[in-house]
Amino acid sequence: MESELLAEMLTFAKERHPKEAILMLRGKVNKDSITITDYLFPPFATTNSISASYPIHMLPIDFSIVGTIHSHPSGSLQLSAQDMNHVYGRISMVMGFPYGLGDVAAYNKQAERLSLRVTN
Ligand SMILES: [Zn+2]
Repeated sequence: MESELLAEMLTFAKERHPKEAILMLRGKVNKDSITITDYLFPPFATTNSISASYPIHMLPIDFSIVGTIHSHPSGSLQLSAQDMNHVYGRISMVMGFPYGLGDVAAYNKQAERLSLRVTN
């Protein structure tokens, strides 16, 4: 993904802090990688300081959505047990406080950490 795109999402997370922020990721699925091209605000998102959630059945059926990204005001880059039960799409990304370009992690549906390549 492009650093500019990542920086925008991190800025959004900073603005929401200390609440959690959540965004949907749009992208292209390649043979052995996923390229994030864009992000969307989820419809009917409700966030509070403990968790960010949304009613899954209200999400649009949009096959360009490859996953979600949300922030952890605690600074943790690990998926919580709740996160693992709510993976929507192929990947789940986490942005941890203080939301620098390195404070990001990506996981697949099996909660295995993926390598993240950020380009300029
Ligand atoms: Zn989480």
